[in-house]
Amino acid sequence: MLQIENVHAHYGHVQALRGVSLVVNEGETVTLIGANGAGKSTLMTSILGAPRITSGSILFQGKSLQGLGVHEVSRLGIAISPEGRRIFPRMSVIENLLMGTTFADHGSRHADLQRMFDMFPILAERGHQLAGTLSGGEQQMLAIARALMSHPKLLLMDEPSLGLAPIYIRKVFEIIEMLNREYGMTILLVEQNANQALRVAHRAYVLQQGSIVMSGTGRELLQSPEVRAAYLEGGKPHSDPLQTAVA
Ligand code: ATP
Repeated sequence: MLQIENVHAHYGHVQALRGVSLVVNEGETVTLIGANGAGKSTLMTSILGAPRITSGSILFQGKSLQGLGVHEVSRLGIAISPEGRRIFPRMSVIENLLMGTTFADHGSRHADLQRMFDMFPILAERGHQLAGTLSGGEQQMLAIARALMSHPKLLLMDEPSLGLAPIYIRKVFEIIEMLNREYGMTILLVEQNANQALRVAHRAYVLQQGSIVMSGTGRELLQSPEVRAAYLEGGKPHSDPLQTAVA
C-alpha cells in the first residue's frame, strides 16, 4: 500500500533522512522505533509533503505522492494522528471531530460522528466540552478519532502514547489492535514505547540517525538482543541507542 524507496529529506543543511526504504502492506500494522531525533516524525510528515523529500520516492497504492500537499494526500486516503495530538483546544469535541471530515463526504458526517462515539464512548459523553479541558488520554482518543473521520485507508500514528498515564497507554495500544483487527485498518505507528509498539506490530523497522538499521517481524525485533539492549532493557533512547549495541 505504501512504498517508501531510498528517501532523503533535509531541513536546510540538516539531513534528517538518509536513504530510507520501508513498505507497509494493506492490513498491516507496521511500527517504526528509534531514538529522539532519529527522523521518525520527519518520515511521517514527509509522506504528507512537509518536508518535501529531496530524493527517492513515496508511492501510495502505486501513485507517487511527490509534489502533493497535505490536502491532496488526505483525499487519497491517508490520515495522521500527529505527535502532540494537535487538537483545537478552544473548540468542542464535536467541532474537533468535524474538522477531520473537511476532505471527506459531508453527507456522512452524522454517521461518522456516531461511528466515533460508538468506538470512543468517552467522546460522546464529552461532545460539547472544550477539547482543551479534556485529559491527555481523552485528547489522544480525540486525535485518533478525528483522523478516522475521513475514512482513511492508511492511518499514520505519531507517538500516540507519549506523555499519557499508564492506564491510557494501555488503552491506546488496545485501540491500535482493535482498529487493525476489527476494522482492518492499515497502520504506520511511530513510538518510543518500543515494547508495546513491537507487540502490536506485524512488522517493524528501527530508524537510527535517519537510516533504517534493522527490520523484521515485531516478534523478531522484540527478541533481538540489539533491540532489547538499546530500547527495551533500560536502553536509553535519548542517548545513542543502537550505535553501541550494533557496533
Ligand atoms: P522525536 O522522537 O524527538 O520526535 P524523531 O525521531 O521524530 O524525534 P525528527 O523530529 O524527525 O526525529 O527529527 C529528525 C532530525 O531533524 C533531528 O535532528 C531534528 O533536530 C531535525 N529537525 C526536525 N524538525 C526540524 C525543523 N523543523 N527544522 C530543522 N531541523 C529539524
